[in-house]
Amino acid sequence: MTEIIDVKSIAQRVREDLKVRVAVLRDRGKGIPTLATILVGNDPGSEYYMASQKKACDSIGAEMLKLVLPEDTSEEELLRTIRDLNDDGSVHGIMVLLPLPKGISEGKVAMAIDPSKDVDGVNPVNIGLVASTSGGVAPCTPESVLEILKASLKELKGLHAVIVGRSNIVGKPIIQLLLREHMTVTVCHSRTSDLKEVTRSGDVVVAAVGKPLMVDDTYIREGACVIDVGTSEFEGRITGDVDLEKIMGKASMATKVPGGVGMLTTVLLMRNLVECAEKVL
Ligand code: NDP
Repeated sequence: MTEIIDVKSIAQRVREDLKVRVAVLRDRGKGIPTLATILVGNDPGSEYYMASQKKACDSIGAEMLKLVLPEDTSEEELLRTIRDLNDDGSVHGIMVLLPLPKGISEGKVAMAIDPSKDVDGVNPVNIGLVASTSGGVAPCTPESVLEILKASLKELKGLHAVIVGRSNIVGKPIIQLLLREHMTVTVCHSRTSDLKEVTRSGDVVVAAVGKPLMVDDTYIREGACVIDVGTSEFEGRITGDVDLEKIMGKASMATKVPGGVGMLTTVLLMRNLVECAEKVL
């Protein structure tokens, strides 16, 4: 039997804890955690993400400032907006939604966000801290993978995790987070030889590729725990990288898409916000 991991319950537990932490800050008169999210232009995916962040803030009692800038905003104007938010003591978290219009450097934007307000862990200071210490702010999707594994497996130490995908925002930060838990980590990518042989050696397989239904029963060993990060549109619906039907009965547990990793990411963004706020309030 393959257990479908109940990510909704994990998200609910984190949310309940955050509600209490926000209430403590508010009731002691310390202030209310406030997220400033910047959207440049009108990318529909980003507009949707902004709306879901607002709902997430409301659900824990945090505040959100929505800053919508026109498509023709210059890089300098955006950087100035970020610097103003860095200096604003009533703002505890800053997030700039991607993609950005052509001509604006994502790298410069990431570097401009004060690391202590960088709720999605994009500033190189946080990337370095996550890689080299137990501190720093990690990006929310990789954090979601770790949170799901912690909630689902008795012990992570010593297990072999195979990650498929090495992007800067997903695959690479997952490596660091799982290493911190003393897992043995292997990362694969489009140039990996004998991919299936590598993935079959994993106690845990994390698929973060963006190729619908790629990972089937031939990629995993009996009893593996399979975490699906992929979200692609395929045949008119949101589909993961894992062919859940084919791994049923072979994996010990797995996440589904939708209803898996994505359910937790916004909640963990809230957790990063609350942690940033708690440090200063
Ligand atoms: P990228 O396209 O940046 O990276 C994909 C990675 O997969 C690359 O490392 C690439 O290798 C590797 N890859 C591509 N094809 C193969 C293959 N045939 N075999 C092995 N490896 C392969 O994607 P992202 O990391 O940004 O996103 C990955 C998936 O996760 C997407 O579906 C995305 O939508 C989803 N996602 C989900 C989130 C959530 O909250 N649920 C948040 C963010 C992303 P190489 O480096 O060699 O090119």
